[in-house]
Amino acid sequence: MTNCLHHGVKPPCAVLHHLPEGFLDCPADQLMQLLPGPTLFDLPGRDPRPLFISTLLHGNEDSGLNAIQTVLRKLGSSELNRSLLLFIGNVRAASQQCRTLPDQLDYNRIWPGTKIIDHPLVAMARWIFDYASHLRPIASIDIHNNTGFNPPYGCVPKLEPHFIALARMFSSYIVHFERPLGTHTAAFSSLCPAVTVECGKAGKESATQQAIRLIQSCLDLKAFDCQLGAPEKIELLRTYAIVKPPPGTSISFDGQGADFIFRKDIDRLNFKEIQPGEVFGFVQDQFYKLEIFAGDGLDSPPGEYFDYINGEIRLKKAAIPAMLTCDPQAVELDCLCYLMHRINLDGVRLSS
Ligand SMILES: [Zn+2]
Repeated sequence: MTNCLHHGVKPPCAVLHHLPEGFLDCPADQLMQLLPGPTLFDLPGRDPRPLFISTLLHGNEDSGLNAIQTVLRKLGSSELNRSLLLFIGNVRAASQQCRTLPDQLDYNRIWPGTKIIDHPLVAMARWIFDYASHLRPIASIDIHNNTGFNPPYGCVPKLEPHFIALARMFSSYIVHFERPLGTHTAAFSSLCPAVTVECGKAGKESATQQAIRLIQSCLDLKAFDCQLGAPEKIELLRTYAIVKPPPGTSISFDGQGADFIFRKDIDRLNFKEIQPGEVFGFVQDQFYKLEIFAGDGLDSPPGEYFDYINGEIRLKKAAIPAMLTCDPQAVELDCLCYLMHRINLDGVRLSS
């Protein structure tokens, strides 16, 4: 038994040592029929140091589930090369095809390092973290989708060679982040190289194939190769500002009347170097302004990123957006976008 350390203590989530019948073909919105709730699978492999995979922390982001199902289906009855800890998160939100239900916490803000205290989900996340830490994972991968058009990219909380090497196995776009607090990847970065991978939009266009390759490579990995390759093969970025419409204001992406009317192809700007003057949309009222919050690497506020001239919202200084979406609900739950700049491997900001 690998969980003897917890013998006698009822785990705060289901812990299973086998896959239930039908799991490998089960779509995310049907998982409730197979799993009692958030579930940690502890599956044995030849090398006992596990790979940790986390997915469905956001219920409507199913690329990670599809990827791990594909990997395990291919494996058939063969033994895993490496033990696998697989955490399937918010199955209740998944059943409703929602990121997070109104009565829930965001499952990617509950991990050690979070500011939230005294909540059963925070206790569950701490318990899973402790469980994993005893098994000394070789790496941790948390798999997500986003709602806008983004290329596949990896997010790392540390610019250490093993973290970059892990993220590079997924994509050449690598984003360094320190906020938000309480993410799975930030917590696991104290145990092992850890990455959040963003597979683009859920569905047909998603980067599920890249996620499959990443999982397979990590299961077969003997050790990390720290050869980063030529630096020009990596696009290293950091979020300097997080952009949100003020609370209580309305937004639209289809030209319909709202306090903020954003252009309908706005998500096509993601990961492109956008120059000053680019129009993001329009404001109905000259007093409305987008709120700009500090991203990472800043002690002081990031300053103004937009000009408002004759009702047009124009970018004021060059930046690289990410996570721009045309989904008003996603904006409400998270943000309109992140604004990034290039950095080098020492974390120093390069010009735009
Ligand atoms: Zn997500």
